[in-house]
Amino acid sequence: MRTTSSQSACDNVSCEIIRPQSEFKRCSGCLTLNYCSAKCQLFDWREGGHRSSCKSLLELRRSECSTLQMIMYTQLCSLKDDTTELKSKDRAFLRAIVQNDYAKFKGQIITDQVNYLRATPGVRACELTVHFNYLSQSTDPPSGISIGTLADLAATVPVWKDYVSRARRSDGRMRIHVMHVLDGAHGTCWLFPLRSATGDLAREIERLAAEEKGSKLDQEAVRCLVQRNVEEIHLASRN
Ligand SMILES: [Zn+2]
Ligand SMILES: [Zn+2]
Repeated sequence: MRTTSSQSACDNVSCEIIRPQSEFKRCSGCLTLNYCSAKCQLFDWREGGHRSSCKSLLELRRSECSTLQMIMYTQLCSLKDDTTELKSKDRAFLRAIVQNDYAKFKGQIITDQVNYLRATPGVRACELTVHFNYLSQSTDPPSGISIGTLADLAATVPVWKDYVSRARRSDGRMRIHVMHVLDGAHGTCWLFPLRSATGDLAREIERLAAEEKGSKLDQEAVRCLVQRNVEEIHLASRN
């Protein structure tokens, strides 16, 4: 598995392209979504619902809180006056933590997802979200990792509904990871979409959940999935 922060993915979720961030063109309306080509941008505008989300994404971008100075961040870095730089640094920092913990605990996450599917019939693997909880030291991963659904997320954080609908349309190519951190004295959460060129992992998780029902999960099968060379990247946070 490769996770590289400089890589990005096309925001047309039916497109498989993952490549360096600098090779994408950004939507000039919302300044948020990235496309590999004019064709993908047009498709997402017409078929992917971006026509109706472009304006709200711009508003979201403008209203981004300036209180991003997380306790864990301020402990590690000295703050600079330039808030723009601080924001992108904060994001890169948080994204690196999520990437790292996802890679480190991927086996456990897959196991938890299979178990979640078995316990909740009717839910598809591509509907699952992963929550990384860093709110207190005692809940650091792996015990702070939990599984949820897109439906829960849409209900609790309505502002993310565009990402929820993208993830639903992506056929497993986009899965939502949520990071819970402290922002001053309060908890806050950040969304990091995990993009992969194919939805294979979600399908395999579903297959394991269906095939092994009632029996103990085969840890060897989980290990195989962890070691499979799938290109996966966490996109920058969009709150
Ligand atoms: Zn846009
Ligand atoms: Zn594309």
